[in-house]
Amino acid sequence: MNLLFDTLTGVGAADAPFLERPDGSVITYGDLDALTGRWANALVQRGVKPGDRVAVQVEKSPENLILYLATVRAGAVFLPLNTAYTLSELFYFVSDAEPALIVCDPTVAPRVVEFGMTATLDATGQGSLADLAAASNPSFDTVARGPEDLAAICYTSGTTGRSKGAMLTHGNLTANARTLVKLWQFTAADVLIHALPIYHVHGLFVATNVIMAAGASMVFRARFDAAEVLSLMPRASSLMGVPTFYTRLLDQPGLTAQATAGMRLFISGSAPLLAETHREFEARTGQVILERYGMTETGMNTSNPYDGARVAGTVGPPLPDVSLRISDPETGAAVAIGEIGMIEVRGPNVFAGYWRMPEKTAAEFKPGGWFITGDLGKIDEAGYVHIVGRGKDLIITGGLNVYPKEVEAEIDALPGVVESAVIGLAHADFGEAVTAVIATGGKAGLTEEAVLAALAERLARFKQPKRVLFVDDLPRNAMGKVQKALLRETHAGLYGGS
Ligand code: AMP
Repeated sequence: MNLLFDTLTGVGAADAPFLERPDGSVITYGDLDALTGRWANALVQRGVKPGDRVAVQVEKSPENLILYLATVRAGAVFLPLNTAYTLSELFYFVSDAEPALIVCDPTVAPRVVEFGMTATLDATGQGSLADLAAASNPSFDTVARGPEDLAAICYTSGTTGRSKGAMLTHGNLTANARTLVKLWQFTAADVLIHALPIYHVHGLFVATNVIMAAGASMVFRARFDAAEVLSLMPRASSLMGVPTFYTRLLDQPGLTAQATAGMRLFISGSAPLLAETHREFEARTGQVILERYGMTETGMNTSNPYDGARVAGTVGPPLPDVSLRISDPETGAAVAIGEIGMIEVRGPNVFAGYWRMPEKTAAEFKPGGWFITGDLGKIDEAGYVHIVGRGKDLIITGGLNVYPKEVEAEIDALPGVVESAVIGLAHADFGEAVTAVIATGGKAGLTEEAVLAALAERLARFKQPKRVLFVDDLPRNAMGKVQKALLRETHAGLYGGS
């Protein structure tokens, strides 16, 4: 028994579609046995043994997914890497994880060989590993793996310090996939538009594992294109996306109730979905986006309900098998309902620790298996969780705590503001000075004085920004997260310090 592989491939009927490629050709669940068998044999021929890491930095393709499944089947540990990482970043990951094999694009392979054993795979699914798989035996003795065995190591996007490798077990991934299938009511009849990257847990585990654990299928696209995704909706039932997918879809004049009539579920996560996007999407389509919250280390922790109120600006109650509590960031004591604090979670989804970092792991767990997420939030009377931001984005100014989200909400309500990011910058008197960066979408007209005057009536003095900066757009990473660390770096000297 290989817990994760069997869970993912054991439900879909042999003749049922698993994945439709952009050219319309289909991989069925029945095809997966021979396909993953060939790829698993290729991995073994390249020296991969059970427990070994397989580092994969390649473009999104169906073969990339097959490689994931084959790695799990061979009892090895899948280690996906963002294609945007540079060679020196790649060097850090491979020296930390010591993979038995690095699978990379043929164009970079000549420079990656000095890091270790390499094989290649390009955006079209071709390369030395694909060639080897094609020439390999389709039958493979699946390696037995249990709940405690590692299935993947995913490096956290880590905006400060070194990236940490989160160790995810067969038990973690299986439990989360099964819980989400039930909660979101996925069945074999579902067709997911898969347009997320697969080097990240959202596209790789939430999207792929959930679809497979339901025996459902996916329409597979290498990247998100709003017009194309809209055109796929009549033959799909669901979409999983980052908030940017939804703002881009709203820019499509063709996004109507009729265009989305066949869809039963739109899910958003990885970054906060603006309440305004949620409402606008409902007004245009009649569809209520379901927002959920998770992270690399834990998979999904909370979700708005399938049946029941999906409340804009919240991430819903904890999943049925996840416990969640809020604690005082300084004392660690539990806080009262409605109060903001550090989100801690416990459950079968919570990872096994950071790869080769026992001290970091120990520092982020509390007795009883509670993982300190690093996110600040609160639970309301209805049991719904609200995320207020990352703990490290909290601003301490003149000794007082300022939650950026509270200030951002006031700024976002001002006319002419598309969105905002509030950050703390070094300041000689205050320690940190509250600073607002406002995206205007390229429109002129808004002034610093006007913003400050408007906020003067709405926020306590210590929460009011000391300065307001304007940009066309906020910097975001591929998962739609606003890069506050980058903003802090860019404007570090605003108040004179460094
Ligand atoms: P990652 O490990 O890259 O998946 O990033 C996880 C982080 O993304 C979480 O710790 C949260 O800070 C943030 N995040 C994920 N989903 C949401 C959401 N629905 N709303 C707000 N923040 C989110």
